[in-house]
Amino acid sequence: MSKPHDSDTNSIVICSVCHSNITDLVGVYQSPLNFAVVCRQCLSRFTQNDIEMMIGLFFLYGGFFGKLKNRTFSLDEVLSSLEMPINKEEVEEMNQRLMHQALIHGLKPFQFNQKLQLYTEE
Ligand SMILES: [Zn+2]
Repeated sequence: MSKPHDSDTNSIVICSVCHSNITDLVGVYQSPLNFAVVCRQCLSRFTQNDIEMMIGLFFLYGGFFGKLKNRTFSLDEVLSSLEMPINKEEVEEMNQRLMHQALIHGLKPFQFNQKLQLYTEE
């Protein structure tokens, strides 16, 4: 993958988190791990840890932050669509998939964690 600075002026750089077009590369974030580029808006609303986590999840499962933001995110619904984990690796994968679903519905990581906390306390 080439760095955005090497690309010619006709190519469009897309934010790896929210998929908005980045026309001005000044002040954007570039992941040292995979060169994914993240827009300034995402930089201001997420922590760097969150950003790296999201880049990884969208790479694995597709989609982007807020893709389905007009639909309601229901933890019950998502959980019922997933197979219940039977071992530790599967628990981890399920948690990742849950977080991914929350993100494409436009939920920020901390909002999702709050929701999950409420859910487990019920
Ligand atoms: Zn963005």
